Amino acid sequence: MNPFLIMTFFSFKKEFFYVLLAFLLVILMPLIGVIILTRTGLDFVSERLVAINEVTNEVQILNPFDGSVYKTIKGPFVWPVTGIITLEFGESSRWQLFHTGIDIANPEGKKGDLITPFMPGTVVYAGQISWGFGKHIIIDHGDNLASIYAHLETIWVEVGQEVKPGDVIGTEDSTGWATGPHLHFQINVFGIPVNPRVFLGGS
Ligand SMILES: [Zn+2]
Repeated sequence: MNPFLIMTFFSFKKEFFYVLLAFLLVILMPLIGVIILTRTGLDFVSERLVAINEVTNEVQILNPFDGSVYKTIKGPFVWPVTGIITLEFGESSRWQLFHTGIDIANPEGKKGDLITPFMPGTVVYAGQISWGFGKHIIIDHGDNLASIYAHLETIWVEVGQEVKPGDVIGTEDSTGWATGPHLHFQINVFGIPVNPRVFLGGS
């Protein structure tokens, strides 16, 4: 074989490696951006979508672009289940780099605690997936506000059913991605997870 040809090949291989590396970097850029931004980004976004009015104590959904009040949401809001908070909104877990809801567990680690909606609404999803949320319910509250109740043991409601605080919608367990029985409770505004504590307060 012509030694010159071999040299050309190796030289080309080196350049090819750099091109490939640059190409990979460009492809991974959005992913790198998301990883860097999410932790702070999530709180940043949450604070721009919902806020509590210090005077009236009402929750306001904001227009994220100019900060104006899009809609005032009147309570009362209730915790969907009593228990201990095992993971706050925005914290990291083995499943999520940033947690999109609040995890509430039975103090004795038992399953089967009764779940109630945090405010009145209509059930828009009641079913099961083998991953992620597992058996879960999604309730639409109007005004682009929705809540999710995940990792359930049983579901007591159907799609289209109207529910209110005090109604039992299901029982708590660990279906889907969960290490133990707990309720993953999530509130979405415009489909984006926001901190449930804006609605439910400190404890
Ligand atoms: Zn969770």
